[in-house]
Amino acid sequence: MQTDIIEIQSPAPGTQLSLQVLRFGTPGTGPKAYIQGALHADEVPAILVTRQLARQLAELEAQGAIHGEIVLVPVANPIGMAQHILGAHQGRFDVRDGSNFNRGYAELAPLVIDQLRNQLTPVVSNNTPLIRSALKAAADAQVASHSTQDLKNQLLRLAVDADIVLDLHCDTDAVMHIYALTPQAAIAEELGAALGARAVLLATESGDCPFDEACSRPWLVLQQQLPQFPIELACFGATVELRGETDTDHTLAAQDAHGVCQFLAQRGVLSVPVIGLPEALCFPTPLSGSEPITAPHAGVVVFHRQPGDKVQAGELIADLVNAATGEVTALRCQSAGLLYARCGSRWATAGKRLAKIAGTTLARTGRLLSP
Ligand SMILES: [Zn+2]
Repeated sequence: MQTDIIEIQSPAPGTQLSLQVLRFGTPGTGPKAYIQGALHADEVPAILVTRQLARQLAELEAQGAIHGEIVLVPVANPIGMAQHILGAHQGRFDVRDGSNFNRGYAELAPLVIDQLRNQLTPVVSNNTPLIRSALKAAADAQVASHSTQDLKNQLLRLAVDADIVLDLHCDTDAVMHIYALTPQAAIAEELGAALGARAVLLATESGDCPFDEACSRPWLVLQQQLPQFPIELACFGATVELRGETDTDHTLAAQDAHGVCQFLAQRGVLSVPVIGLPEALCFPTPLSGSEPITAPHAGVVVFHRQPGDKVQAGELIADLVNAATGEVTALRCQSAGLLYARCGSRWATAGKRLAKIAGTTLARTGRLLSP
C-alpha cells in the first residue's frame, strides 16, 4: 500500500487541507477501481467501511490478489469534516456558499468532444484509451478559485480514468440503496446483490452533475453525440447509500467491505474466489419513479412505515399534525414499492421531503436527487 497526501487549496492563511489517498496494486496491470467515503462529510458509516476496506485490501495486496489498481480515499471531504454550526455537524453543504459537496462536478464530455472527433477510430478497443486520456487531461486542466472547487477537481482527477467508481455515502434513516446509470443496470444489480441493497435506482441523468456521474456519464454523452464511432461505457459509477447516518456498526462495516471486495472480484480487480454473490434482494427501478412523500404544511411527523417496508399504492406513510389546531393530515403514497429512506427530524416545514419510495408509478422529470 502506498499512501499519498494531496494538498487542497488553503482557505485561509495558517490553515492546511489535505486528502489521504491509499493506493493498492499496480497501475496498468488490470482494471482500475476508485473508492471514496463520506463525500458528504457527516455520513460517517462510509468511513467505517473505507477503513475496513483499507485493512482488507492491504491483506489482499500482500497475497498478490490485486489485479490492477485500487485507489481508496477513506475521508473524501476534509472541508466538510471541520464544519460544525452550533454543535451540529454540517457535512452536506459548503457553509461558504450553501453548495452541495456532491453536485457541480466538471462536465468533461463537452470539453473533449472536438478533439475526439478527430482522433477516434472504427475500433472500440482503440477508442477507450483515447477517451480515457482525453478525460484525464480535461480533469487535470480544471482550475479552482476556492478550496471546495479544488477538492472537487482533485477527487475527479483521481477517479476519472477508473473502470469502476464507488462513492460511499449514507442517507438519514435508510436501508442500503444504490444510484447508477440506466444503461449500466446489469452491473448495478451485481453491486446491489453483493451489498444486499434493497433498492437500485437508475437514471441517465440525475441532474447537477454528482461525483459518480461526472466519471461515468461522459462515456454515455460521447456515445450519444459521436454515434459514428464505437464507444463503450468504460466507467461504471455508482453512489452507494450505506443505510442511515446512525448505522455505525463494526459487523455491518465488515460485511459491507466484504461485499465491495466480492463485487471487485466479480469485475476482475481482485483475484479472489467469488463465493457466489447472494441473490439480489430487488430489481432496479427508475430514479424518476422514486416518490418523495412531502409535507404539504408544517407539522409534527408521526410515521406509520419505516425503511425496508414494502408499501401498496394509497398506503398511509405518516400523519402530519398541525401544531396550531391539532388537525391530522394523512400522508399516503401513490406508488407501490419499497420505502427506502426517511428524514431524521420529526418536525416538518412545508415542502420537506419526509420519506422516499422506490416505485414505478411516477415519472418525475428535471432534478431527480434530493437537494
Ligand atoms: Zn450523501
